[in-house]
Amino acid sequence: MSVSFVIDPLDFVQNTGIHHGKIPVDALVRLHDFLFDKEGELIYQISGQFDKHEKPGLHLEIKGKIHLICQRCLGKLVHTVDLQTFLVLAKTEAELDQADEDDSADAILSTPSMDVVSLIEDEIILSLPISSCHTEGECSAQELESIKDSLTSKTQSAHPFAALLALKKTN
Ligand SMILES: [Zn+2]
Repeated sequence: MSVSFVIDPLDFVQNTGIHHGKIPVDALVRLHDFLFDKEGELIYQISGQFDKHEKPGLHLEIKGKIHLICQRCLGKLVHTVDLQTFLVLAKTEAELDQADEDDSADAILSTPSMDVVSLIEDEIILSLPISSCHTEGECSAQELESIKDSLTSKTQSAHPFAALLALKKTN
């Protein structure tokens, strides 16, 4: 299954274009290597704007949930995607190099037919954590550890006189 939404980005900005839609995770093929499964969908909004220096750019918002793989237990890890980014459109390679030197803004090379879905896929992949793990208490690798811990602590706390003492108190 593949989806695409192709724009001429400079035209899109000139017309102050705005577009929103949904993409099934299943359609983002390059993302699949990072995923536990292909369930879910992402919603996005793209709008053409000029930045404060009058440079054309694309404002992109992406939201949704994807399922990553926990590096510790290899289980399903729900990851919330909540991205907002402004990408300056460079018209030439030289302009792109120049923009790359400026750390305050990300730039992309503008091509007459740009696939927004592919752009969204890039942005999500770039945003992924290098190593993803469940938080403590949510990880099943952790769970095994804590079950073991509680078993040992139970045997330790079961003092032979504790029951006797409890019996004495009720009398
Ligand atoms: Zn885990």
